[in-house]
Amino acid sequence: MKLRCLGSGTSVPSLERSSSSYIVTLKRHRILIDIGPSVVRRLLEYGYKLNDIDTIILTHFHVDHTADLSTFLFACNYGIEPRMEPLLIIGGPGMHTFYRRLTRVYPWITPNNYELDIKSMSRDSIYFDDLCITTERMRHNRESIGIRMEEKKSITFSGDTDYTTRLERLAQGTDLLVVECSFPERKVKGHLNLPFLERLVGKTNPKKVLISHLYPEWQLFRGVLKSPYLLAEDGIEIVV
Ligand SMILES: [Zn+2]
Ligand SMILES: [Zn+2]
Repeated sequence: MKLRCLGSGTSVPSLERSSSSYIVTLKRHRILIDIGPSVVRRLLEYGYKLNDIDTIILTHFHVDHTADLSTFLFACNYGIEPRMEPLLIIGGPGMHTFYRRLTRVYPWITPNNYELDIKSMSRDSIYFDDLCITTERMRHNRESIGIRMEEKKSITFSGDTDYTTRLERLAQGTDLLVVECSFPERKVKGHLNLPFLERLVGKTNPKKVLISHLYPEWQLFRGVLKSPYLLAEDGIEIVV
């Protein structure tokens, strides 16, 4: 499994950090996690084509995680290489309504030449070949989900979330935990900070922890992060 961080930021506009998004390359699948502003452009910058992606998973519907979904779907119809291959979009509860409302604003995003499958998951698992995707409700928005992908090794994504034992359960013993830690010190409702992240890591024992969804306050962070922690940067790649 290979993870590429396309963005490690938030809703705060930044030249260094695009909004949080990741691409996971598996044996037979390439999955995009979240698609906020400028993610489509980031994909191109890192050498991917839109048609390389077969699945998009939305951790929740906040704009910094979904704004480029319309850009992506529009390009599938009217880009240089119109999409022919099926596309699966997974989101939390309300995913179908979210998509339907988008198509009301942007009727041009409904597929021209390919099959689009929309799936809503809450506390579920689905299997594709050797790959298992498990989701669990998180504590941020009504529709927020965390995601665990398992194909021999595992990667777990918290999405945006406050502390919850459901994340402890989802992330248990995972090889790579990609976790939001919006602020190093300040505690804001609906998000984690370092002390809460340390508590989570103590309970779940991930082999590696990629800290992401970073607000500008991280620039002033003077502490030292030791293994298993790694601070995300746009573009970094981790092989699991
Ligand atoms: Zn966010
Ligand atoms: Zn959010």
